[in-house]
Amino acid sequence: MPVLVMKFGGTSVATLDRIRRAAKRVGVEVAKGYDVIVIVSAMAGETNKLVGHVEETSPLFDAREYDAVVSSGENVTAGLMALTLQEMDVPARSWQGWQVPVQTTSAHSAARIVDIPSENITRKFGEGMKVAVVAGFQGVSLEGRITTLGRGGSDTTAVAFAAAFDAERCDIYTDVDGVYTTDPRICEKARKLDRIAFEEMLELASLGAKVLQTRSVELAMRYNVKLRVLSSFGEQSDEAGTLVCDEEDIMELNVVSGVAHSRDEAKMTLVSVADRPGIAAAIFTPLSEAGVNVDMIVQNVSDEGRTDMTFSCPTNQVKRAEEALTKAKDSGSINYHDLIADTDVAKVSVVGIGMRSHTGVAAKMFKVLSDEGINIKVITTSEIKISVLIDRKYMELAVQALHDAFELEKAA
Ligand code: ADP
Ligand code: ASP
Ligand code: MG
Repeated sequence: MPVLVMKFGGTSVATLDRIRRAAKRVGVEVAKGYDVIVIVSAMAGETNKLVGHVEETSPLFDAREYDAVVSSGENVTAGLMALTLQEMDVPARSWQGWQVPVQTTSAHSAARIVDIPSENITRKFGEGMKVAVVAGFQGVSLEGRITTLGRGGSDTTAVAFAAAFDAERCDIYTDVDGVYTTDPRICEKARKLDRIAFEEMLELASLGAKVLQTRSVELAMRYNVKLRVLSSFGEQSDEAGTLVCDEEDIMELNVVSGVAHSRDEAKMTLVSVADRPGIAAAIFTPLSEAGVNVDMIVQNVSDEGRTDMTFSCPTNQVKRAEEALTKAKDSGSINYHDLIADTDVAKVSVVGIGMRSHTGVAAKMFKVLSDEGINIKVITTSEIKISVLIDRKYMELAVQALHDAFELEKAA
């Protein structure tokens, strides 16, 4: 039997009624002759609640116990989904990550899947089971501890299962009906894309478009998984939603195809550090050892042997970064006059494969922001994206203005 992977996100399983609606969709695919692997998220809001419990109990928590707690939301929905399917006379059972087992690295709260043996589930399909409901977001380390894959990780579970079972398609059911030119929640002119190239989706995801976890797009690209994003509330047809595919399979190629934003950014500046060989390593090694995810980096021109170094990182890692840098200063490995944290910034990016062959995108982006009176604090570019750090209060305005200026509401 061909295998289909169907993943339901938090809003799609937020109530028993929604679980029933999702189960009906699964029933439709079973009736078509598929063996279905259903990946479920926790009910909407549940993971946030569990993270809150952990942080309240233990501010500097043990990451292994964090994973034990926050992975539990998915266990509930997996069992409920299997029960719902059984009530509909669809042979189904639930699997927690460790039962499959979904083998991962030991990087708690940010683990990577290393193996998904298919024997157990395949044997059950052979015995007449039609649906394997798997708790997303979780796995088990070689040490036998429960791990989680980072926020939004159920998308990655889904794509990894699609690759492991050579599934015909991996359908990601969510609360929007596909991938849009930008977040439809902050720009009403956002346009749904019928197709998007893996590379563009990868950039959009890593720049903040949370519709797919970045790692899930990486895996789909590597293992050539046919990946589709669609609404769990809309029509159920083979054409619905957005297909994430190879660049060659896309007819319309815009210079810019999307605008992404990331709200939780912080900008940190080390004022007046000695400009000498090895200074960047002396600053960024302790940050990396402290688990700080540094994103943008800017080093100013040197003035009388001293310079300013600016970098960005997620807002919730500012304390950790400050601690690591203060320790490095105390130990004498670096020396700076001041450390300034600006936690009211956001990152806005434009993405498009067409940028490889077209010039002028950066100039246009900067002009649009300047016309809106928005000051740019940091800039970074790659072959197919340009990102800027701006004051958070202008984030929505910047997204809307860029969406208008690059005419993203119109198809190419
Ligand atoms: P789920 O719980 O189903 O995993 P998420 O909340 O993780 O859903 O992801 C879906 C959300 O992603 C949408 O509600 C939307 O606000 C947001 N989003 C951000 N950028 C985009 C985009 N370019 N296209 C579609 N959705 C986007
Ligand atoms: N429940 C997890 C989260 O909220 C994983 C997921 O939904 O993808 O991050
Ligand atoms: Mg998600």
